[in-house]
Amino acid sequence: IWALNNPMRMAGWLINDVQRFIASAEKIEDLMNTEPQIVNPANSKKINTSLGVVEFNHVSFGYGEEQVLTDISFKAMPGQTVALIGPTGAGKSTVINLLCRFYDTDRGEVLVGEHNVKDWNIRELRENMAMVMQDIFLFSDTIEGNIAYGVPDASFESVQTAAKMAEAHEFITRLPDGYDTIIGERGVGLSGGQKQRIALARALLKDPAILILDDTTSSVDMETELRIQKTLKTFNQGKTCFIIAHRISSVKEADLILVMENGRIIERGKHTELLMKKGYYYNVYKNQYGNFDGMHREEEVIVNG
Ligand code: ADP
Repeated sequence: IWALNNPMRMAGWLINDVQRFIASAEKIEDLMNTEPQIVNPANSKKINTSLGVVEFNHVSFGYGEEQVLTDISFKAMPGQTVALIGPTGAGKSTVINLLCRFYDTDRGEVLVGEHNVKDWNIRELRENMAMVMQDIFLFSDTIEGNIAYGVPDASFESVQTAAKMAEAHEFITRLPDGYDTIIGERGVGLSGGQKQRIALARALLKDPAILILDDTTSSVDMETELRIQKTLKTFNQGKTCFIIAHRISSVKEADLILVMENGRIIERGKHTELLMKKGYYYNVYKNQYGNFDGMHREEEVIVNG
């Protein structure tokens, strides 16, 4: 459908994902320079056991001198959704950076598919993952090409299915050229929410063992967000899903919520468990929903007891 065998584009595949994670790295060149520090093990091979099992064991890490993560431990099983929540700078994206092995831990270990990420071929490791980041990257290409990016043999039908799941199909078909509409830098401008849905469709089409969403639905309206969440629930069956979230509404359903502050996990549990702790999460919830009277009776009952 599009020039898949363009080597520049293929080369950009990993870089683009890295780019969105590293706030300070403005230039592709910088990223190129950071890549070689991570080396592929000589005997790396495809490992097929429970690809979606993710485990952090007492992980500590700093980009430089300063420690950014301290003693992070958790385990996520296929089919589970893990939400990371906490203030800016708490270390949420850094956890994901280590999961994708954009950096190596200083202490502790990160396991994916029950193997240390250091034993994985990096390319194969990342083939098991799809990310939808806040800062969405779209190519100057058709919508179809953008969604099918990374899945060379995708049929038009599967592209459409992914777009439908991501609540993007409707607005795409309303564009003058539909799926052939050129977007990206030189194409039709899309709203933030539309870009997010294109990126989500791309991730869904890739059908990864591990799906990573960085506050994916922040630019879409509540109704669309709810529809996407419902779709994801079906899609996520058997997958491990990580959500970096700012709104409680995006994490309420998570199997495990990790509340982070200053590089540490300060609270963990499910929504209702965390509310009962009356700690950080409870306070965020209170701030986002105002007082508990009236509008959110259901949670009020849970909070009180
Ligand atoms: P969050 O995702 O919770 O907002 P981050 O993981 O992005 O937090 O950041 C945690 C800390 O690490 C912050 O102090 C941030 O400034 C720092 N940091 C993040 N990325 C880099 C980087 N590429 N180089 C140096 N420091 C970084």
